[in-house]
Amino acid sequence: TRDITVDAASTEHAETIVQAVKALPDIKVLNVYDRTFNLHRGGKISIASRIPLKSVSDLAMAYTPGVGRICTAIAQNPEEVYNLTIKKNTVAIVTDGSAVLGLGNLGPSAALPVMEGKAMLFKEFAGIDAFPICLDTQDTDEIVRTVKNLAPVFGGVNLEDIAAPRCFEIERRLRSELDIPVFHDDQHGTAIVTLAALFNSLKLVHKSMAEIRIVINGAGAAGIAIARLLRKAGAEKIWMCDSKGIISISRTDLTEEKREFAVKAQGTLAGAMQGADVFIGVSAPGVLTPEMVQSMAKDAIVFAMANPIPEIQPELVSKDVAVIATGRSDYPNQINNVLAFPGVFRGALDCRAGTISVLMYLEAASAIASLVKPSDLNREHIIPSVFDERVVNAVAAAVQRAARSEGIAQS
Ligand code: NAP
Ligand code: MG
Repeated sequence: TRDITVDAASTEHAETIVQAVKALPDIKVLNVYDRTFNLHRGGKISIASRIPLKSVSDLAMAYTPGVGRICTAIAQNPEEVYNLTIKKNTVAIVTDGSAVLGLGNLGPSAALPVMEGKAMLFKEFAGIDAFPICLDTQDTDEIVRTVKNLAPVFGGVNLEDIAAPRCFEIERRLRSELDIPVFHDDQHGTAIVTLAALFNSLKLVHKSMAEIRIVINGAGAAGIAIARLLRKAGAEKIWMCDSKGIISISRTDLTEEKREFAVKAQGTLAGAMQGADVFIGVSAPGVLTPEMVQSMAKDAIVFAMANPIPEIQPELVSKDVAVIATGRSDYPNQINNVLAFPGVFRGALDCRAGTISVLMYLEAASAIASLVKPSDLNREHIIPSVFDERVVNAVAAAVQRAARSEGIAQS
């Protein structure tokens, strides 16, 4: 027998390899490692010091007694916290574990690997020190109170994976009660990148925002934020659908947010799709059929963004549409929030914006879209790659410009 190591990227992958190897003579599998689990052991991030601590004198400056004078300086002038501590470059990634990825209400501990990953993205893409904060409560008042109590440490708050409709109230209250930027990425990060992708898709099909009819399937955190931002960008005809069909004024089961978008039309998604110019899916896997796509207007644009399995598999309708995009990295046109949130926070922290505004979302979307040069723009390239290093600076600059023009930059 030989000891072999199966190095696989997922449990299913490993199992396939193990089964294949078992069929071979003289080989016995002694150990199976899952690369992804191994990578997570001990966690993915750590805190590091920025200054040396090698001597008694280092210690006397970094900690007591030296640090005491720093405390006094901040007590006398609270603004100094931005100069003399980590606050200026620090973001709290706050979740209650109620809507973890597309996995559902897994609670705070199970949400931690996602929040650690998000902290990595903040650091890698924007040099921001972000802390995962997973709260053991799903009560709106308690979440708001806790985040307010934590706020002294942070230059900004990124709300993450908090279920709708609670996420809307939590964000609204924190925005009004805190003097640092608060941004729910599942809402606004998604909306910014979706708008960027739509700007470029419309260029390809020569249609204008005001003339197109848009169907948004899914009226949760992402769907509502996308609809609100598209309206601000000039979209006039938006029909939203949820799990019960078109969000119609005739319905009596609508939340406040859904009511903002209620239309006269009623019926099913299939009805809404007839003659529509754009479909934006932030709902559930496989809910869109090829027939629905074929019933759309000429040069249809389809963003099937449910993760990890889109509303429709691109290969089923690729030939029927002008543009198809998904949230996935293994198809062209990946609509991924990482194009937005690192630059949004980089820009907001650098100019000490007191809040993050709609103008910033619009400018960030334009900045992302304009990184695809007209000569490079085509149906398989409507949005920059997530590894395009120009993105974070372009978004940060756009956000700062917006902050200054609105007078909300404080440095
Ligand atoms: P959410 O807050 O839970 O909202 C989900 C919405 O989808 C709800 O309005 C729900 O309807 C609706 N829905 C569920 N099943 C449906 C169906 N069969 N037909 C029509 N609507 C249906 O979730 P979210 O945070 O907005 O995210 C939604 C999806 O978008 C997830 O798959 C997520 O992974 C994906 N997403 C992708 C990106 C990206 O690619 N960049 C970004 C954000 C989100 P009810 O209101 O009736 O329950
Ligand atoms: Mg999220």
